[in-house]
Amino acid sequence: MKKVLLKPGRELSVRRRHPWIFSGAIAAADAAERGETVAVTAAGGETLGYGSFSPDSQIRVRMLSFDPAVEPGEEFIGNLVACAVGRRAAFFADAATDAVRLVNAENDGLPGVVADYYAGWTVCQFTSAGAERWKGSVAAALMKFAPFCRGVSERADAEARAKENLPPAAAFTVLAGGEPPELVEISEGAVKYLVDVRRGHKTGFYLDQRDARALVGGLANGAAVLNCFSYTGGFGLAARACGAASVVQVDSSSSALDLAKKNEALDRLCGTRVEYVESDAFKYLRKCRDEGRRFDMIVLDPPKFAASKSQLMKASRGYKDINLLAMKLLGPDGVLATFSCSGAVSPEFFDRVLWEAALDAGRNFQIVARTRQGADHPVALNFPEGAYLKGVVLRSMT
Ligand code: SAH
Repeated sequence: MKKVLLKPGRELSVRRRHPWIFSGAIAAADAAERGETVAVTAAGGETLGYGSFSPDSQIRVRMLSFDPAVEPGEEFIGNLVACAVGRRAAFFADAATDAVRLVNAENDGLPGVVADYYAGWTVCQFTSAGAERWKGSVAAALMKFAPFCRGVSERADAEARAKENLPPAAAFTVLAGGEPPELVEISEGAVKYLVDVRRGHKTGFYLDQRDARALVGGLANGAAVLNCFSYTGGFGLAARACGAASVVQVDSSSSALDLAKKNEALDRLCGTRVEYVESDAFKYLRKCRDEGRRFDMIVLDPPKFAASKSQLMKASRGYKDINLLAMKLLGPDGVLATFSCSGAVSPEFFDRVLWEAALDAGRNFQIVARTRQGADHPVALNFPEGAYLKGVVLRSMT
């Protein structure tokens, strides 16, 4: 097996079981192929474990095994998939939802591998050279171990593939089993959603916000709700199912709103009025301010504003801007459910931005709940980067 030799002292991070080895930590490397498994050795020559080689990425090696006695192979990968699926047994036992993340990349020991299960159809993303190398084994294992799995397909994540210098791939490929329908219907509690597994964001749906949607829904009875960055309607439909008086769904994507309308139609019995606004959310919030509109509940679930720490200041201005605008639109006792999915933004930093927004808005708020990604998006203790999603539910005291 080819070897990667670390610089003196740089083995510490591997001993702490962090799965990433950056190019700067490497003293010498055999010319391994993209995705090939390499032995990682400390400066003194000791083998520390095995990982997948990414010749063109800043993250040069992603660790698969920290045990020198265990070399990763097809069976090893299949076993990791089986274990990850096994850890989701509670989701399959619970009839409330039939959509769950089965493999959460580094956090399940499978760097670069994401697998989301939508009512029998599993959709994967392979975003590193090692993940690409093992995708056949991953798909076969998912077909075997995921309960009632009818097919496994792949969504190519163009941006991530470019970083790893992987060749562009077809946007959607069936890897095993059958071809999923155009739209897959899933349930989250009382709410049904259609998932566009071919064209939707990520693998089609924001499964990571499941718990937050339920929590926010539970606070929405009788409320006039403004759901900004609605995507296919998630928080708005959860609020509607829990008795919201009215819902406004705002998103800049017309295709997301089209699907949100189809999702609304899945529940014919609910009489709540739903309005759809295709707009930049910042602009719409300003328009509402200028018109003096008021809401009882506002949800802000924007896309990632900071891709890395270097964008933190710019991101904080964006977060402050939308939160300040939303705070001013809330009526007495109004609820603001506000989220950040930027990993570079810590919960403490986000709190600070919210506090500054509240000061500028001249309003007092109390934190009534905090949310994070659901239990099917676990964070490995040795991989703090796995925690990216944070939410704060604020109630106005003025
Ligand atoms: N809350 C959603 C997920 C939101 S994802 C759910 O529960 O499913 C973020 C959404 O923000 C995407 O749908 C994207 O189209 C939208 N978006 C991105 N920039 C925007 C902008 N400036 N204004 C309005 N929507 C925007």
